Amino acid sequence: MKIQRINPQGYCNGVKRAIEIVENAIQNPDIPKPIHLLGQIIHNRFVVEQFRKKGVIIIEDKTKTREELLQQIHSGSVVFSAHGVSPNVYSIAQKKGLTIIDATCKYVLSIHKKIKQYLENGYSCIYIGTKNHPECEGVLGMDSSIYFVSSSEDIKNLEIENDKIYVTNQTTLSLYDQKDIIKEIKKIYPSAIIEDMICNATTIRQEAMAKQEKVDLCIVVGDKSSSNTKKLVEVSQKIAKIPTILCESLEDLDRDRLKNISSVSISSGASTPKEIVDEIIDYIEKSNE
Ligand code: SF4
Repeated sequence: MKIQRINPQGYCNGVKRAIEIVENAIQNPDIPKPIHLLGQIIHNRFVVEQFRKKGVIIIEDKTKTREELLQQIHSGSVVFSAHGVSPNVYSIAQKKGLTIIDATCKYVLSIHKKIKQYLENGYSCIYIGTKNHPECEGVLGMDSSIYFVSSSEDIKNLEIENDKIYVTNQTTLSLYDQKDIIKEIKKIYPSAIIEDMICNATTIRQEAMAKQEKVDLCIVVGDKSSSNTKKLVEVSQKIAKIPTILCESLEDLDRDRLKNISSVSISSGASTPKEIVDEIIDYIEKSNE
């Protein structure tokens, strides 16, 4: 079987930094314990599990907001994930006397900063994102006037009177879906300032995915809750037009899909440990022998 590895693989810089921040906090005797992770530090349950084994408490419930989750923490330290949090979550943690360990990715911080500046200058802000994603929750929590859209359809339902409009987006959106949404915004609000904030790691991975050689099957390794991983699956299916499966680990791999095919490509999300991908490639290579 021909195996094509789609690079880059391994953690993006934001994820690497977030993991290092938590590792350092665990080792540092000056950081009050217990350490709590507010939601998953990154969207990968294998990484989160490693931290749990080291005594870190994971406060997680997909039906609850970061603000609600914070109510469960009464002492020690709290880690804000790479996705960032709203100013309100920040100030509640401060009022509770918790030590804050902020692992927000610099790309997310930059979006917060831009939106704040434009709002202060009298602009209305449109933010393109994925419903119920923690990064979007953090941004939308900055100001209730931010217009949230996740599809071209949503744009048609907006009624913005202000002629000063700023548009930006979640860091891990699909480059290709984003283009359609922006086209619609330009039609209705031609003078809007549009700033694409999809991060480098997402852009490079999606472009590599779109340009991959034709294969019988593409495997994207990553967590089912990871936005950038799910977008890679979409790009492979819709843009590269290759049958694609998402798999979290070797145990999760649907081996039946490898039967009667002669080529496979492997990609992975920005929060997927490289070892998991290597294990899968190793397995496919060995089954070839
Ligand atoms: S995917 Fe992009 S925004 Fe998210 S942590 Fe990585 S570099 Fe930061």
